[in-house]
Amino acid sequence: MSKLSNKVALVTGGNSGIGLATAKLYKDEGAQVIITARSNETFEKAKKEYGNVFDVVQTDVSKVEDLDRLYAHIKSKYGKLDVIFANAGIAQTAPTAEVTPDFFDNQFNTNVKGVFFTVARALPILAKGSTVVLNASVVASKGFVGSSVYSATKAAVRNFARTWTAEIPVDQVRFNVLSPGPIETPIFGKMGMPDEHKAGMAAGLPIKRLGRPEEMARVALFLASDDSSYLAGAEIMADGGFGQV
Ligand code: NDP
Repeated sequence: MSKLSNKVALVTGGNSGIGLATAKLYKDEGAQVIITARSNETFEKAKKEYGNVFDVVQTDVSKVEDLDRLYAHIKSKYGKLDVIFANAGIAQTAPTAEVTPDFFDNQFNTNVKGVFFTVARALPILAKGSTVVLNASVVASKGFVGSSVYSATKAAVRNFARTWTAEIPVDQVRFNVLSPGPIETPIFGKMGMPDEHKAGMAAGLPIKRLGRPEEMARVALFLASDDSSYLAGAEIMADGGFGQV
């Protein structure tokens, strides 16, 4: 029996990395999957590569008008939404003294405002018994050099799940958090991190390797499905032990 049969699932940032692996798994488990991509370039690429597998919608999650357009599309095409993996995010690191207001706003606009309105604007179309999985990070609860701003964005995301669990009836929408450790995705290239730095980071982990997107997808499936039926406002650290060192 597939775990997401008859479900309509949205994966923001489903064109890359953890989001793409999760979108594929949700699809394999029976869901109709909508993915978003942000820029013209990534949207066209995703449409070409995955247009016959997923419903690809160009959306910048930091723009509320884009989210409203996305949800109008989902409502008219599917009539409902059952699962959201609020995954779209950016990571930038800088020593605190070098953080500019633009750097700060950019991170918060995508990672905090983006996640907030991805959920807030979906509430009217979320079916009873929906699940929302928020993608935070192990650094939401751990010091990490250069990540004061990014970590704060992810701490905010983690807290959204707690507040919404208190505010919104759990039998209506169940919120939980996936907090990955370092996972091998394009995000490191976008941050400009050299390969030797990645290798050093892997060596410092208790598990001695970076995680794979597919390993996060399995946790994101658990949290989206009835397998996690008694979890509400919970956080799963999928971090190879990074939070312990
Ligand atoms: P990727 O860079 O592979 O994917 C990031 C995704 O987010 C892309 O699909 C990107 O879309 C999308 N995105 C970024 N900004 C926006 C925006 N404003 N609107 C819509 N989409 C946007 O990285 P990961 O798969 O690694 O990251 C996915 C999530 O996991 C992020 O939230 C990240 O913070 C979190 N995470 C990742 C970790 C890791 O080590 N990889 C560790 C902990 C957490 P596009 O390609 O169109 O720009």
